[in-house]
Amino acid sequence: MKIQAPKGTKDVLPEESYIWQYVESKFRQICKLYGYQEVRFPTFEYTELFQRGVGETTDIVQKEMYTFLDKGGRSITLRPEGTASVARLFIEHGFASRPMPQRLYYIISAFRYENTQGGRYREFHQFGIENFGSKSPVTDAEIISLSYNFFVSLGLDNIVVNINSIGCPVCRKDYVKNLKEYFLGYYDKLCPTCKQRLDKNPMRILDCKEDNCKLIAQDAPKPIEYLCDECKTHFEALKGYLDAAGVCYRVDPYIVRGLDYYTKTVFEIVDVVLDKELAICGGGRYDNLIEQIGGSSTPGIGFAIGVERLIMLLSQKGLIPQKPQVPQVFVATLGDLATKKAFEIASTLRFEGISTVIEELSRSLKSQMKYADKLGCDFSVIIGDDEIEKGVCKLRNMKTSSEEVVRIESLAQYIKSKI
Ligand code: ATP
Ligand code: MG
Repeated sequence: MKIQAPKGTKDVLPEESYIWQYVESKFRQICKLYGYQEVRFPTFEYTELFQRGVGETTDIVQKEMYTFLDKGGRSITLRPEGTASVARLFIEHGFASRPMPQRLYYIISAFRYENTQGGRYREFHQFGIENFGSKSPVTDAEIISLSYNFFVSLGLDNIVVNINSIGCPVCRKDYVKNLKEYFLGYYDKLCPTCKQRLDKNPMRILDCKEDNCKLIAQDAPKPIEYLCDECKTHFEALKGYLDAAGVCYRVDPYIVRGLDYYTKTVFEIVDVVLDKELAICGGGRYDNLIEQIGGSSTPGIGFAIGVERLIMLLSQKGLIPQKPQVPQVFVATLGDLATKKAFEIASTLRFEGISTVIEELSRSLKSQMKYADKLGCDFSVIIGDDEIEKGVCKLRNMKTSSEEVVRIESLAQYIKSKI
């Protein structure tokens, strides 16, 4: 039986890998512009990190984690997201004593055992940002603007940032009490998962994807109506800064986000595809996360972008740039002496930054040209014993099939002037 890639995973072929490189380089560029630096961390962590960091009552921890015992009997989990790991890294390396705030970014694969419909994968990728050490709404506005401008730099000009505030533990107490009472009135109509949520984390019901629960949630009390003075001031200030930064946003009082650690600001960036809103970025403030996993109290805020979804969106909108031509030049050879010369020529061309391949299979000239054509090369360099003696080569323009004789020492400059 043929072995296939596991369900929910995806190979990235050369036809597509350049798109990944493109979005990655754009993301690195914007991070640099906003003063963010990259961190890299393990693909797996001790399970406890996510149980405490993501939260026991979340979908991720309850049903989506890839967890197993390693040979030493330790419970290990493949990272389902990045924030908990970056928070762990922050504590482990004593980042609290570095200048604040700390601005960090990452590009990772993440693993969730999910149904694989609708563009969902079991291994997927995220671009993420975390800012630690600032409580100020200026920081909320900065990271939202970073993300917004990243999408704009990719040509997405129709995006909207949906923002909300879910308050802090102080204002949430009163809110959750009222929310519970509201949902209790509809207990029989809630889905089985939400029935459980009602007890453990009723706010999660607002995030349920079941139609019935969505309908009931429509008239539920909103966190924004219960904000304490501090949270209210924070939210108002954020809106003011977003206006100043020219970010297009909308208050959506029903965003609660899927993770337990959020406080105050939560947001999603969406684009509209075929009349449906598609979330490509989710984030929020998590002022209690570092403490929750054993560090000293440090505020933080971050977001994650789903890379597969982003690429899908770019392709639906015709925003994928043309694939760069690789290789640009094919060096054809006739005979052993010419093969040796081909190494020399190829290395000079590569030194000059021209992407070059040489014939490796000793085929006939006709087959070599067919191959160069299939590769899409701009030029082929043809060398035989005759040409070597004269210090020249034939340069064939693969688009027009015209050929000219060029001196080997001026070949690189000549090709550069033509491509
Ligand atoms: P959803 O409510 O759609 O399940 P989420 O709250 O689980 O989203 P986050 O944890 O915030 O998502 O992850 C950030 C982004 O990562 C999402 O906006 C989405 O684009 C992407 N993402 C999340 N899960 C998957 C998956 N299984 N496959 C592909 N992309 C994903
Ligand atoms: Mg999810």
